[in-house]
Amino acid sequence: MRDANFIAENNAKHMWHPMSHAGEMRANPPKVIAKADGVHITDDQGHRVVDGVGGLWNVNLGYSCAPVKAAIAAQLDDLPYYSTFRGTTNPQVIELSYELAQFFAEDGLTRSFFTSGGSDSVEVALRLARQYHKLRGQPERVKFFALKKGYHGTHFGGASVNGNANFRRAYEPLLPGVTHLPAPWDYRNPWGLTDGAEIARRIAQDFEDEIAFQGADTIAAFIMEPVLGAGGVIVPHESLMPLMRKICDKHGILLIADEVITAFGRTGAWSGSRLWGVQPDLMCTAKAITNGYFPFGAVMIHEKLVETFETSKSAMAGVFSGYTYSGHPVGAAAALAALSEMKRLDVASNAAARGAEMLAGLQGLKDKHALVGDARGKGLMCCIELVSDRETKAPASKEAVAKVYEAAYSHGAMVRTSATNVIISPPLILSSADVQTIISALDAGLTAAA
Ligand code: PMP
Repeated sequence: MRDANFIAENNAKHMWHPMSHAGEMRANPPKVIAKADGVHITDDQGHRVVDGVGGLWNVNLGYSCAPVKAAIAAQLDDLPYYSTFRGTTNPQVIELSYELAQFFAEDGLTRSFFTSGGSDSVEVALRLARQYHKLRGQPERVKFFALKKGYHGTHFGGASVNGNANFRRAYEPLLPGVTHLPAPWDYRNPWGLTDGAEIARRIAQDFEDEIAFQGADTIAAFIMEPVLGAGGVIVPHESLMPLMRKICDKHGILLIADEVITAFGRTGAWSGSRLWGVQPDLMCTAKAITNGYFPFGAVMIHEKLVETFETSKSAMAGVFSGYTYSGHPVGAAAALAALSEMKRLDVASNAAARGAEMLAGLQGLKDKHALVGDARGKGLMCCIELVSDRETKAPASKEAVAKVYEAAYSHGAMVRTSATNVIISPPLILSSADVQTIISALDAGLTAAA
């Protein structure tokens, strides 16, 4: 390992960072995170803070999860890699598929298809949805519906259903046949409504209108995050997902739950679909499945789809999608250990309890600081949205957002800023004291930016 001067000198010089402007990163290089333990991260200057980001919504069990580390190390010794393409498999991925079928039994999901991450999981789910209809003799069902403000990764399929212009414009043209419905948001929506139930009804009505206009028999699937994450932690009214489920059922449209963030406890329930009492047809997972220690994902498949795929004699019935690292034995071993730890620690319950404390703290910050236009969240996915004027909801300046971020960091918490949103998604093993550290660091941040 080269010395500290070398690291500082070469920071952002020879790489382009995801979701960033390469020139800006050269001019203003990123913090170098050198170590981590528990729910804390430490930078190369030795500054140690609570990680309010949880890696990237994924290190749910924190940085010192010994069973996951041990499982990875042992697996590297036993079998560091072998393919699961037709003809071979490995013991770890067999056991994992069994465990996931138990874990997601309540969601009706009985089969898994393994991937290398969230974007892959979304891509596979979109493909399986189209294929399902083709196998059932409805080849015209190829279109997708999604929500504005939704985030579904960056592959071409995922970017096409993505509901944020930032991830679309530079890469257009994207997939044709995608329709976006309004975001289920009571702070900003096209109708100026604040009643979540009414907003949900309007979105459902828009969905019905579009289905009537386009023809149900042209639509493959509707995809949504049970709680919208990267788009700014938008918590739909509890009636939205059940309403959308009902409409999908009525018209033979599949429901894809993108649970790359919400699966495995983050919202306070073990899955976001379960939180809203809905069974999806396909569920995209990744991130926390290995506690973020190994790139891995799983598309979970509902029992309803199983017969079509497993008994079809069609030449198209094979799943001709998949990745070199699908079912990677090291990832599977990590996931087995992570699943066992998340259940042992009951992180979903802790996410619910600590999340309630976090949201109360954020609402307190809103009462105190005019810069906070809205505070929202569910479980341990929370957000404050910064505004320069509460009446008009005009966005806060880039400088104000940067000040909040830097001052919060120097006062003990890493948070994530995205446009004018300050997003909080800490490890689910957070303590009440850690919650207060994040709130007081944000308080200092908002004071500095006032
Ligand atoms: N879907 C959702 C809901 C996500 O939040 C993310 C990542 N934040 C993705 C898909 C893409 O996952 P990945 O970055 O692992 O490709």
